[in-house]
Order: sequence, then structure tokens, then C-alpha cells
Amino acid sequence: MLQSPLFDILAQSDVGKGTQCARLVKDFGFCHLSAGDLLRAEQHREGSEYGELIQTCIKEGTIVPMEVTVKLLENAMAAALAENRSGEGWTAGRGRFLIDGFPRKMDQAEKFEHDVGQASAVLFYSTTQEVMLERLLERGKTSGREDDNAESIKKRFNTYKEQTMPVIEHYESLGKVIEIDSSASIDEVHQRTKAAVAKLLSA
Ligand code: AMP
Repeated sequence: MLQSPLFDILAQSDVGKGTQCARLVKDFGFCHLSAGDLLRAEQHREGSEYGELIQTCIKEGTIVPMEVTVKLLENAMAAALAENRSGEGWTAGRGRFLIDGFPRKMDQAEKFEHDVGQASAVLFYSTTQEVMLERLLERGKTSGREDDNAESIKKRFNTYKEQTMPVIEHYESLGKVIEIDSSASIDEVHQRTKAAVAKLLSA
């Protein structure tokens, strides 16, 4: 368990969240951690006992078991806190974290909140399946990712509907969800997000 960290935003869904997170880092000094990136790094880490499991889950668009994902996040957060960063929101044992692609299932949300800490808000980028499919197939032309293909994308949509939507509904019942329609341009989505986060941080 980390010593009283401050968690600010959880972002999720396949709608340009990586791009938006990079901008929020510049705006607010967040430490941006992507669950997907941490899992891909672990998949390729020599000697990892989870490499094969992670690879299968990513290809099949399913959720990697919570023990693996939460531990990777916890370690990355502890490493960021150990850097003793300066700036607003960063004091001894506390940081400003933007965790992207997490939580995607209720069990990992519960484990994280029990073992690590409470989220201040959930940033939910919503758009239509058509827009998501178009963006992911476009990304697939250059990303080299093994899940940016029509078959994996369809599976990811199912996982999202069945496992991730209940997480969003849960945080909605707590009044913690900030929903942003991400069908608009990158700049417009960024402006809306920036305004919402600024309001949250000043509250
Ligand atoms: P992303 O990079 O966010 O698009 O995630 C790619 C894939 O990594 C997902 O389809 C899952 O297989 C896995 N993944 C990402 N985030 C999580 C998470 N929070 N829990 C479990 N698996 C995840």
C-alpha cells in the first residue's frame, strides 16, 4: 500500500485517450500511466512469467487478470513517487496520477481502491462504435499492434460492453464520472477535458 497518494483521474476506452493524456500531462503535471503500455512492456520483459498470458489476452481483447495489472500499476506509481517530483500536486508520498485504460473490470477497480487508493474522478471518453472502429483500423496501418485488426477490435468491443460498462455505471453512482464526447476533433476534445479537469482540481 502506498502512503496516502492522491489519485486524480482514471481515463478509459479506445477513443484517442493516449493523445488526450499526453496533453493533460503538459497542462497539469500528471504522471501518466497506461495500463495497456505497462502490460505490453511486461509482455516483452525477458523472464516475465506473464508474457504469454498477456499476449493472449491482448490478442483476444480480454481483460488481463487483476493481480497482474494492479501490481504493475502499483509498482509504477511507487517508482514515480520515489522520484520525489516537484510541482503542484506532488508532495512527499503524494502524486497526481492519470491512469489510462483502467479500471476495465469491477474486480480490478475494487482491488485498486482497496490496495492502492481512491480515484478522484473517472474520465470517460465516449463515442460511437463506428468512430472507434474507423480510428482503430486507421491506427492499425502503422501501429504494429496485434489487436488493431477487425477481429480483435470486435472482441474488445464485447469486453467493453460486458465488463467495462458496469465499472462506469458504478463510478456514475458515486458521482465521479466526467463524460466527454470524443467524436469531435482532438483540439476540441482537449479543450473540454482541460476545462473539466481544471474544475475538478480547483474544487
Ligand atoms: P489499450 O492499450 O488500452 O488499448 O489496451 C490493450 C489491451 O491491453 C486490452 O484490450 C486488454 O487486453 C489489455 N488491458 C489494457 N488495460 C487493461 C486493464 N485495465 N486490465 C486488464 N487488461 C487490460
